[in-house]
Amino acid sequence: DVMAHQSLPTSTTPQIMRTKTLPDHHRKKILVTGGAGFVGSHLVDKLMQQGHEVIVVDNFFTGQKKNIAHWLHHPNFSLVVHDVTEEIMLEVDQIYHLACPASPPHYQYNPVKTIKTSTMGTLNMLGLAKRVKARILLTSTSEIYGDPQEHPQKESYWGNVNTVGPRSCYDEGKRVAETMMYSYKNQNHVEVRVARIFNTFGPRMHPNDGRVVSNFIIQALQNKDMTIYGAGEQTRSFQYVSDLVEGLHALMNGKYDMPVNLGNPDEYSVKDFAEYVHKMTESQSKIEFLPKSQDDPSQRRPDITTAKEKIGWEPQVTVENGLKKTIEYFQSVLDEAGEIIPT
Ligand code: NAD
Ligand code: UDP
Repeated sequence: DVMAHQSLPTSTTPQIMRTKTLPDHHRKKILVTGGAGFVGSHLVDKLMQQGHEVIVVDNFFTGQKKNIAHWLHHPNFSLVVHDVTEEIMLEVDQIYHLACPASPPHYQYNPVKTIKTSTMGTLNMLGLAKRVKARILLTSTSEIYGDPQEHPQKESYWGNVNTVGPRSCYDEGKRVAETMMYSYKNQNHVEVRVARIFNTFGPRMHPNDGRVVSNFIIQALQNKDMTIYGAGEQTRSFQYVSDLVEGLHALMNGKYDMPVNLGNPDEYSVKDFAEYVHKMTESQSKIEFLPKSQDDPSQRRPDITTAKEKIGWEPQVTVENGLKKTIEYFQSVLDEAGEIIPT
């Protein structure tokens, strides 16, 4: 018993996505803040396909309407253009709270707004969760570990964050957001889930997002210089977005309520990663070394033992296969746009 839903016919959105029809007692009302963003829109696809009612709250700071355009006229879908730093009254069963700029250029563009989004935004969502007795999941980040002195990073590591550097509006914002989650749990019995997400990539990343995967692919596809910040010896571990969506869903619907790392332990130096993208795109680009970014973490790799043991999750998509899909996506974005100059 499925209902076909026609999507807008552009090469960067899926042509048809099917939704199940769930009986009333199985259908949940699910709020996704930041649902028009990169990760949020993939999560929305999963929840919609499962047959739930989905409400997206997004202010379109970094989100794109085309990420959710294929659901706009579906009866189970609602879009509320709203800033989470303002209160909102809704009736929902679950809240996935993603709203927050995530790439360094975006979150550093207006650091005061970033800190307001993490603090006031999370307080508002926790207030909502408390009032309607909804379970709430926060998308925290590996950035709470800062420039880690422990490698790989386990959830028990407390981190090494500069409180006054250019990244602190984001890192400290997420740290206090985690603290708020457990304060509401302990004091008000709100059901909380906290995902610490490591670098994630895939289709629908904003072309001007400024993160390493989209920058390298867009540069390589256009044979423009690939920009490495510093010597490129810093490492990151890259996860494909469909794995993250499965992890968020498993965490939300499981019993474990302490923070869980969600990431793919496959670790690369930024320089090796640039060469990998160069090879996969058969690019003519040259590598350009730019000054190192301040407080850039030197290494990052998740220990995912907790996710395996507590929510039965581990990544399924290799970096290679994920990159193939992402390269295809950015090629189609380029075919539509002509040229993209990453900012
Ligand atoms: P994104 O920038 O694509 O999406 C963020 C969304 O939140 C956008 O749609 C944006 O418009 C919206 N938003 C921002 N501020 C808002 C506000 N004040 N009110 C309402 N909406 C607002 O980023 P993403 O990569 O999809 O990240 C989603 C979440 O996952 C974020 O909370 C981010 O911190 C977290 N995360 C992502 C990664 C990653 O690698 N992608 C890693 C760690 C954590
Ligand atoms: N980076 C780079 N060139 C770019 C973009 C990023 O060398 O064009 C580096 C950046 O300095 C960092 C790593 O790639 O060491 C990952 O950066 P990203 O912005 O993707 O995410 P972060 O993990 O820093 O939040």
